[in-house]
Amino acid sequence: MNDTVPLALQLAWFVTTLLFIVGLRRLSSPNNARSGIWLAGLGMLIAIASMYFHPELRQNQVLILAAMSIGGGIALLHAQRIDMTRIPQMIALYNSLGGIAAGAIAMLVLLNVSEHGVLVKSLAVLGGLIGCIAFSGSLFAYLRLRGYFSRRSGFAQRQVAYIASGALVMLLGLILAASSTAHPVLLLLFVGLAICFGILMTLPTSAADMPVLISLYNALTGLAVAFDGFVLENPAMVVAGTIVFAAGSLLTRLMARSVNRRLSEIMYSGFGITDEAEATSTDKDHVNTIDSRDAAVDMAYAGRVVIVPGYGMATAQAQHKLRELTQLLDERGVQTSFAIHPVAGRMPGHMNVLLAEAGVPYEKIQDLSDINAEFSQVDVVLVVGANDIVNPAARDDADSPLFGMPVLDVDSAKRVIVLKRGDGTGYAGVENPLLFAPVTRVLFGDARDSVQDLILAIKGLE
Ligand code: NDP
Repeated sequence: MNDTVPLALQLAWFVTTLLFIVGLRRLSSPNNARSGIWLAGLGMLIAIASMYFHPELRQNQVLILAAMSIGGGIALLHAQRIDMTRIPQMIALYNSLGGIAAGAIAMLVLLNVSEHGVLVKSLAVLGGLIGCIAFSGSLFAYLRLRGYFSRRSGFAQRQVAYIASGALVMLLGLILAASSTAHPVLLLLFVGLAICFGILMTLPTSAADMPVLISLYNALTGLAVAFDGFVLENPAMVVAGTIVFAAGSLLTRLMARSVNRRLSEIMYSGFGITDEAEATSTDKDHVNTIDSRDAAVDMAYAGRVVIVPGYGMATAQAQHKLRELTQLLDERGVQTSFAIHPVAGRMPGHMNVLLAEAGVPYEKIQDLSDINAEFSQVDVVLVVGANDIVNPAARDDADSPLFGMPVLDVDSAKRVIVLKRGDGTGYAGVENPLLFAPVTRVLFGDARDSVQDLILAIKGLE
């Protein structure tokens, strides 16, 4: 550890490191996750506060405080206004800020090259490169999730631009790391190319695969911070960055596996495409509809009913009504359960969190791998605001952007009732053949209202 750093500061870093590790450990279980977040947050607070005791940070304290107050204030207000369905956007946006902060630290080091050896400069080049890629990639992913650039449209020479910018940025990085004098113009070019590379890396990814890519960028920001930590000789940064990198890499792997994709497929499968197919919408005139009374009869006299919740359940906040519905059916002797797809909703574990909040017993929840073989024995599947996760095209249509993603095979059940409001498609923006299948009936309306109508109709039955 650096001798010039006061002992109190070194101790603070040690405590921070411990809090990060314990915090992350507690995040691995939903029961302890809340305290894990608090502990990691406390660690971050100690890390920031303790920097006031750093001998090299005695100047510009007013400026630092002002910047922190403005940034922290905006983040606090923004985070309070974000609802759960927009969490992935928020993660992408904040991750882009983390990336650019890591990039900026590295840039400062590279502007003062005479003070540093080759190893430090090389680490700064790596931190700068990865930080800038994470910045532009995450920002572009954020804009995609906000609905901008929603089609994978791009320019035909994308592969050439991607490879050329990648090769050039590496060459510039080598020059900067080896140079003993500062080259501001080369540095600017290096940053610009790294930013372009991040955008080009995100361009071919389909909207449905975006969550996996955001998780990857999160891991990359962690790596950039860890490199910066070495450069600044700050062990708390090294540990925090390494933890984010390790956790982010594992999450990326798990998410890619849950949609049955290799990371290389997610990042490069769109290369060569010029335009993504226009998003289609559900033609209301060609689906078979059902009213709430008939749907209630189907469910009330069934032997087994499986509910498949999706993003629409979250927007409608229908989880409490669904718990009530299952209780009602259970009382009538109908066997009920919930089938959860790993990417249902808009964040990992989204449906589990909402159903747990509504008090749905854990034993009623079934994973995709458990339930898929059982659908043929199910009398009624109630699809509540879910689309992509039950789209059979992912299984049957090699041209579909969803092809290869495991889906819930609800179409093998005896009867499927889909709750949706109108002609909206799912997140991936592709047509869902399930809606036109002979077994399917659509009950149009807001999911919460429709479930309430089903409850009333079942209560009204003899
Ligand atoms: P989808 O977004 O595919 O479908 C949502 C469906 O809900 C639509 O058919 C929509 O149709 C309907 N809907 C929306 N609001 C309501 C409402 N108030 N009442 C009734 N219906 C409603 O959701 P899925 O859960 O099926 O799939 C998740 C998708 O999100 C996947 O493609 C996944 O890759 C992606 N994703 C997942 C993340 C994750 O980590 N879980 C993160 C980011 C993206 P209509 O408008 O007609 O009502």
